[in-house]
Amino acid sequence: MVDSGRVTATLRLAVGPLRIAHPITVPSAPVPAAAVVPALQQLVNAVVAAAEDQVVHKGQSISCRKGCGACCRQLVPVSRTEGERLLVLVDAMPAERRQVLKARFAAAEEKIREAGLADRAGRSDRELSSAYFALRVPCPFLEEESCSIHTERPLVCREYLVTSAAELCAGSAQADVTPVPVPKVSSAARGLQDETDDWFPLAMLLARGRRTPPHARRRTGPEWIQRFVARMTGH
Ligand code: SF4
Repeated sequence: MVDSGRVTATLRLAVGPLRIAHPITVPSAPVPAAAVVPALQQLVNAVVAAAEDQVVHKGQSISCRKGCGACCRQLVPVSRTEGERLLVLVDAMPAERRQVLKARFAAAEEKIREAGLADRAGRSDRELSSAYFALRVPCPFLEEESCSIHTERPLVCREYLVTSAAELCAGSAQADVTPVPVPKVSSAARGLQDETDDWFPLAMLLARGRRTPPHARRRTGPEWIQRFVARMTGH
C-alpha cells in the first residue's frame, strides 16, 4: 500500500524458532539508510515481543523494570546506520540538554580511551565486552537508572531482557544472568550500507560523529528493508 510517499507491507519472517508477521511502513523514495531505522525498531520490537511471549508461555517472567539500568554499563554495539540517526536526535535536542550529554560522552570516551578500549586491538567481541563492563561506564543516555531515549534506543538494547533476578545483572562476571533467548536481529543493521562497516560502542557516538561522515548512499525504503532482511536471513 502506498500513501503520500510511504509504503506499507506486512513482513512475514521465520526468525529462529519465532514466526513474525509484522506491518512496516517506509519511505517509497530513495532515502539514506537512517530513514528506515524506525521501521527496523518496529521489526525488532515484534521479534522481542514474540520471544517474550514464549518465555511467559513457559511460566517465566521478565525481570527488567524501569529504574534498573545495570545492563546500561555494558558495551552497546551500534551500527553506523543507527549511529547516524542518533546523532541527528542529539543535534535536535535543546542546547542545554546537548551540553549535558556532551559532557557525559566526553567522560565516557576518556575512560574508554584510558583503558585502551577505543579500538579492538585484536580482541574478540567477548573479550572487549568483558573489559568494557569492568569499567562500569554508564551509558551517556542513562538518567536515574532509566533510558532517556527509550523510544529511540538502539536495536540491541531492545533485544536484551532477562528472567533472572535483577541484582545479578550488576555482578562483575554476569554469572547466573539468564537472558531471554531473543534472536539478534540487530546485527543485520551492521554493514547495511557498506559490507566493511563494523559496529562501534554507543558511548563513542559523538567521537565517531566528529569524523567526516562518508557519502550516504540513498535507496528506496523497500530496498533498504530487503537488504536488512537478506542480511538477517543470510539469503
Ligand atoms: S541507550 Fe538506553 S537502554 Fe541502551 S544502554 Fe543507553 S540508557 Fe541503556
